[in-house]
Amino acid sequence: MLLRLLQRTARYRDRAILVFILAVIGTALVLVLPAIAKQFTDVVIEEKRKDLVIPTALVGLGAIILRQILLSLRSLAAQSLEARLVHDLRVELYDKLQRLPVRWFDKNASGEVMSRVADDVPAMDRVIVEGLDTALAAILQFTLILAALFMQDWKLALVTVAPLPIIGVITYFYSRFSEPRWRESSEASAALHSQLHDSLSGIRQIKVYTDEPEALSRFEEASHSSRRSYMRVMKGQAIVWPGISMLAECGIIAMVAYGSWRVINEEISAGVLFYFLFAWGFIFDPISKINPLTQVFNRGLVSAKRVFEILDRPEEHNLVEGARPESVRGAIRFEDVSFAYDDEAPAIEHVSFDAAPGQTIALVGPTGAGKSTLLHLLARFYEPSSGRILLDGQPLDTLSKEWLRDHTGYVTQESFLFNTTLRENLLLAKHDASDDELWSVLESANAADFIRELPDDLGTLAGERGIRFSGGEKQRLSIARALLKNPPILLLDEATSALDNETERLVQEALEHLRAERTSFVIAHRLSTVHSADLICVLEDGRLVQAGRHEDLVTKDGLYARLCQATMR
Ligand code: ADP
Repeated sequence: MLLRLLQRTARYRDRAILVFILAVIGTALVLVLPAIAKQFTDVVIEEKRKDLVIPTALVGLGAIILRQILLSLRSLAAQSLEARLVHDLRVELYDKLQRLPVRWFDKNASGEVMSRVADDVPAMDRVIVEGLDTALAAILQFTLILAALFMQDWKLALVTVAPLPIIGVITYFYSRFSEPRWRESSEASAALHSQLHDSLSGIRQIKVYTDEPEALSRFEEASHSSRRSYMRVMKGQAIVWPGISMLAECGIIAMVAYGSWRVINEEISAGVLFYFLFAWGFIFDPISKINPLTQVFNRGLVSAKRVFEILDRPEEHNLVEGARPESVRGAIRFEDVSFAYDDEAPAIEHVSFDAAPGQTIALVGPTGAGKSTLLHLLARFYEPSSGRILLDGQPLDTLSKEWLRDHTGYVTQESFLFNTTLRENLLLAKHDASDDELWSVLESANAADFIRELPDDLGTLAGERGIRFSGGEKQRLSIARALLKNPPILLLDEATSALDNETERLVQEALEHLRAERTSFVIAHRLSTVHSADLICVLEDGRLVQAGRHEDLVTKDGLYARLCQATMR
């Protein structure tokens, strides 16, 4: 995992090396202070050299100022490295998300995925920067000071560092213990995000069912669980780290006692003891960083696992690669197609039928019969488990999905608008369309009139999920979008929501324009659509139970006749 993280840094090698060099120089300057203390004790005081007071102090001051400047530069370089790494990874992750199959999104809550992009990416990149900056500097400082102490007096140095092996062992075991707890905490926090996302998306439902208290208590429970798992980590920390500090501080007492003993015996000068006293802070300063660093590392590695989990997922199969025929006639053939979402009962079973170019195929049947699933298979959101679908005689799974979707229009029941201007929402279908083209499709979709009345017409913001517009208006906008795309194949889920007669007429007219001259699959809720369809496919429990034109089916005893009677009543 660490190796993979480091590989990502390779692209910013120069910046990383700069951070490293600044860390080395800055750290080396740490050695100046104990040396100054020793100089003051052994030379300035001992030999009563007043003339050396100011020059020695100036050297100390110079070292301190230079070290701070280097620290600032280092911190700046490290931050900029981190920001770049976060940016790169975030974009890479987003790109990857867009290439994952729809099935993956069925199983992963969007709030949870959002938390991986928003929280896990920065957390994992902190590992690199802290590792490179803080950890390396700490190791360097520790080694340098340790070497200097041993050079001053190895016996006193041994006593000073006596607690270190114990501290090392505790830290090692503690980080193994805390890693799964960090993971838990991270997961609880992602679940909290997921819950928040879900309830904000459904805020209208919550309000209308006055479900606020229940929603609050669900959120409270998720927040509690996040708090509990966080506290589990923190409890361990609260015991282990003060313990380590205590051990380190016991070391200082041992050092002063033993050092004084040796000064009295005249085995070392008082200056050496002062050297040790000053250096002590610098040798234990890196040790005090072990705590925050292990936190960053544990958390970062957990996050890295969660991020790589997505980056390593197989992408949607033949998204780009695959055949891209020159032209499309629009003949669609289902050959004994079956499909199941999970291992459960199949949603589509042994469906076969033919659609000639330009025909309108109405899909009818009770809810859950598999009508939407059929459209999903045509858009290749999912692949049939057996059987095949052919477009102009070519199996769908040999075509590039990108190409297929470029030639397919999909108007869903819930017309989704992105929260940008209407113009941008329409341009989704054809990026280089002129305003004249937009107005022309809006006319055909019977949407031009209400847009003209808006103060900013095409520049009007749609609001989240297109909240600013009524159901009928959104439908006409998404019909306009499909018209602009002008695809040879159209998948259409007619809205079930009751529209007033006038709006219904406008939408119906718009749909007729849209269906003309292309092969259209329509989940039909309206009698007029069904009556005029070239082929009606009647589905029940995933099976095609009847197929034919209205005139033929209505006279036969069967599901279609029963459905018709139910609508008449
Ligand atoms: P219809 O559009 O005719 O109402 P669908 O095609 O939506 O029916 O659903 C057919 C069956 O597949 C239903 O039993 C439904 O519960 C199931 N189903 C639909 N979408 C999914 C999904 N994303 N994951 C699992 N099961 C699904």
